[in-house]
Amino acid sequence: MLIDIVNKTGNLIVLSGPSGVGKGTIGARLLEKHDDLCFSVSATTREMREGEQVGVNYYYKTVQEFQEMIDNDEFLEYMQVFGRNYYGTPRKFVEEKLAQGISVLLDIDVQGAMVVKKNYPEAVMIFIAPPTLAELHRRLVGRGTDTEEAIERRFAEAKTELKLVNEYDYVVVNDDLELAVEDVECILRSSRLAGKEYKDELFRTLNAEEA
Ligand code: ADP
Ligand code: 5GP
Repeated sequence: MLIDIVNKTGNLIVLSGPSGVGKGTIGARLLEKHDDLCFSVSATTREMREGEQVGVNYYYKTVQEFQEMIDNDEFLEYMQVFGRNYYGTPRKFVEEKLAQGISVLLDIDVQGAMVVKKNYPEAVMIFIAPPTLAELHRRLVGRGTDTEEAIERRFAEAKTELKLVNEYDYVVVNDDLELAVEDVECILRSSRLAGKEYKDELFRTLNAEEA
């Protein structure tokens, strides 16, 4: 069926925005609901937090291991986030999934997002914004995963990150979680309908029928 073609083309989806805004929470809800979407698990040199799992949240690396991955060109993008730990998106997984028609979700910082935008101009760029800065601060504290120093560093960085909002295709305010998830779902669906691969495949199919 012609209508099925749209479900067979994947997009690279970038969810970005300040730490604590709810990117992980929104991403997890989307992954629960959509089996045609997968999450790109990043590599990081930061310490594992309580409750995190290897290969689910991150692949935890030493600085030396991370450097080897950089040298072997294994990253689609990588960054030293907050001037401390390294974070990077393994390239192979993303490329394989996209080739299979599965959309891939990246939860990455704004600097990394700008690198993806440059290298993959077709990536769908979504900025998640907080309803207020005070609420962002409350969420960073409420998450209970960071030291006071890390919270203040992340919060200070947020103000710089907000300045890049115009570089994104979409801005979703994460006030009510379910509404934010719905907004992102609308973006995912319309991005599929707007995808070049989808349009090409659709017209190939229609032309083949005519012949
Ligand atoms: P990020 O991945 O952007 O760093 P998280 O997903 O870890 O952020 O969310 C930070 C904190 O905010 C978590 O404790 C999460 O439960 C909470 N949170 C996320 N979305 C909302 C929301 N819409 N309303 C209230 N709290 C939220
Ligand atoms: P956290 O330490 O809270 O898990 O993540 C800190 C920040 O790093 C978040 O803003 C998150 O989006 C970002 N991040 C996670 N993985 C990657 C990645 O692979 N690349 C980049 N550039 N940023 C990442």
